[in-house]
Amino acid sequence: MIEYLVHCNFLFHHSNFQWMVRMDSQAWMSLSEKYVANTYARYPILLVRGKGTRVWDLDGKEYLDFVSGLAVCNLGHCHPKVVKAIQDQAAKLIHVSNFYYIEPQIQLASLLCGHSFADKVFFCNSGAEANEGAMKLARKYAKEKVGEERYEIITMERSFHGRTLATLTATAQEKYHKGYAPLMPGFKYIPFNDIGAVKKAIDSKTCAVMLEPIQGEGGVNCPSEGYLRALREICDERGVLLIFDEVQVGMGRTGKLFAYEHDGIEPDVLTLAKSLAGGVPIGALLIKKKIADSFKPGDHASTFGGNPLATAAGVAALTAILEEGMLKNCQEVGDYFFLQLEEIKEKFPFVKEVRGKGLILGMELKIDGSSMVHEMLKKNILINCTMGNVLRFLPPLIVTREEIDQVVRALGEVFKRVS
Ligand SMILES: *Cc1c(COP(=O)(O)O)cnc(C)c1O
Repeated sequence: MIEYLVHCNFLFHHSNFQWMVRMDSQAWMSLSEKYVANTYARYPILLVRGKGTRVWDLDGKEYLDFVSGLAVCNLGHCHPKVVKAIQDQAAKLIHVSNFYYIEPQIQLASLLCGHSFADKVFFCNSGAEANEGAMKLARKYAKEKVGEERYEIITMERSFHGRTLATLTATAQEKYHKGYAPLMPGFKYIPFNDIGAVKKAIDSKTCAVMLEPIQGEGGVNCPSEGYLRALREICDERGVLLIFDEVQVGMGRTGKLFAYEHDGIEPDVLTLAKSLAGGVPIGALLIKKKIADSFKPGDHASTFGGNPLATAAGVAALTAILEEGMLKNCQEVGDYFFLQLEEIKEKFPFVKEVRGKGLILGMELKIDGSSMVHEMLKKNILINCTMGNVLRFLPPLIVTREEIDQVVRALGEVFKRVS
């Protein structure tokens, strides 16, 4: 067992070293309650190590991880290529300013453009920051190329785009807005998967439509066949940019490198973050050339954006996804997982629907889902619940059928006890 020595008193009196204690999980958790801002409802485990699809807590207890840091660890925990890239880069150069050219940043940008619709990439540090950048770019492009009065962005009900003021406003879910008024002006909300609503909503003020090709936080909501293609056509007809937020579903999560590839269309701008650097904080804006030209030196920036450490990890992560058959595995075991969940649905009437693509799968219940997450945790399996009643499964893309069987079996046992 790993033992932690902490000078507790040091936190209060910098010169007093008398009070030394061994910290167990409980002690860490109470220290967390005391000092870490209370913005998360946490599960009572402290994770200290990870490898592949597994994580371990301080007591050495092993968990099967079907959350993957919320679609961040798509390659599994501590993928050796990512670890090596971080170690090598950390010993060489961790950070310099974007005043200078940065080798891994250029490599990652070229790789992303080579494997997507994009011609240019802007790097930042998170999903929210990527979406902020996309919205700024859309406004600037529209003002310059379409008309001064074009600034409004249309987003979808049940969307999630981040927690900064602008991305929070873009997120059309009231529960995230509470207490933060006044929100940003210039947004309009419409129902997801309703092409008639888009047609009606676009007017002379609209500069962009922004959406997730599959809604993640909103409950793993997939659009109907043809919706995204119709959306593309309407945006083209009306001179409006189409922005895809693939922060959660990009980087192989749906079985293709990017979710838009399933529909045979391309967005004008696409945002990435979560899994892009295998767990190192990063965000990116993938942009078509004619739009990218609206960003000139000084128009937008980020101190850490595209720094050597993050982008070196990104190059390793992207290369691993492409070279190690992860997309194929994601499609195959994703389909298998979907069928297994469908079978469970047939057995338990309180399961309403199974939906998703690749390895982002949701199971909507007619009852509360959060207690199920706690029950699964007791069986050493990490899953997530969103919207209160949608169990969400986001295993690493390297997950095996045997591991899926294990989760499905445990889920069946938990459900049996409830019904
Ligand atoms: C997680 C997420 C974000 C926000 O990303 P952060 O890195 O937490 O800012 C934005 N959009 C989608 C679709 C997400 O899933």
